[in-house]
Amino acid sequence: MSPILWRMPSKLKGMLLQLCPCCVKGRAFSGLFKMPERCAVCGLRFEPEPGYFAGALYISYAMGLVFVIPLSLWMIHRDYSTAAVIFACVGVLGALSPLMFRYSRLIWIYFDVLLFDTRRCPENRSAPSENGDASARTRSKSADAKAPR
Ligand SMILES: [Zn+2]
Repeated sequence: MSPILWRMPSKLKGMLLQLCPCCVKGRAFSGLFKMPERCAVCGLRFEPEPGYFAGALYISYAMGLVFVIPLSLWMIHRDYSTAAVIFACVGVLGALSPLMFRYSRLIWIYFDVLLFDTRRCPENRSAPSENGDASARTRSKSADAKAPR
């Protein structure tokens, strides 16, 4: 089994608990509609570029339809007036908007990070070799500085 499928249950739990897709420890939201710039635990940049979450709008739209279509069909079947149907749908969407905002962004970032761009996770970056080289350079510099001349 591929490592990504092996980790799926904990990642799914992380998405439901609104945690970072990489470390599944840091909180993905700092306010009702506010995401921090980076994960406090692993440093993942949640929004790597402006407009990154534009695709989450489609997810949010689909989530809204999941609630509004059955509600409006039920109300129409029960002979409610059109105004009542519209008022109920707007009310339901307004009440659920924080949840839809959060979960649409979470679904977007989880799919993006876990299926398409795992290199964004700090754990998967090729940084260790770069850091290793950098620390080796620092070590050699400090060794040069300490070396008697
Ligand atoms: Zn994290």
